[in-house]
Amino acid sequence: MATAILAVQGAFAEHAHMLRRLGEDAFELRQASDLARPFERLVLPGGESTVQAKLLAEQCMLAPLRERIAGGMPVLATCAGLILLASAVHCDDPPRERRLATFPMAAVRNAYGRQLGSFRAEVPFKGLGKVPATFIRAPQIALLGEGAEALSAHDGIIVAARYGNQIACAFHPELDEDPRIHELFLPL
Ligand code: GLN
Repeated sequence: MATAILAVQGAFAEHAHMLRRLGEDAFELRQASDLARPFERLVLPGGESTVQAKLLAEQCMLAPLRERIAGGMPVLATCAGLILLASAVHCDDPPRERRLATFPMAAVRNAYGRQLGSFRAEVPFKGLGKVPATFIRAPQIALLGEGAEALSAHDGIIVAARYGNQIACAFHPELDEDPRIHELFLPL
């Protein structure tokens, strides 16, 4: 079985590269017909969440993916992907009906500022120790709902969390050489 990577917009190629490096079979999900291919896991990459949300809805992929995630399919979401997973987003942009909204959390888009909000850091990650973290106009997790746990915080702000089989990261583990977050995801 394989990992599907949402590839309507954004940094999907880097995830594919990382997954293949780990020996995982990965393919791109561009349109509804791609959902017919067997896959057991999903990656939601970074990019522009408003654009991704619009394309997901237009390509009729939103409801089938939402259903599979709610049914327990493992997901690794990074940056814009975190926004798509969040049950609540500040200002409801992109709107809830265009998000997957399967992860109980409140997220804030572009929380570090729009243009100057990109930086690198090392952050503690539950079970992994310190991991390199590249933040690019990243969101922040303002609040976690019941059953969700924080995996990582930076400057007192939650930047990665888990809810069941869903892992959401505000930063971009696919842009660094360190494979440990993807390695954590693959056995789920
Ligand atoms: N700022 C983007 C958004 O809100 C996310 C940026 C990213 O994925 N690197 O959609």
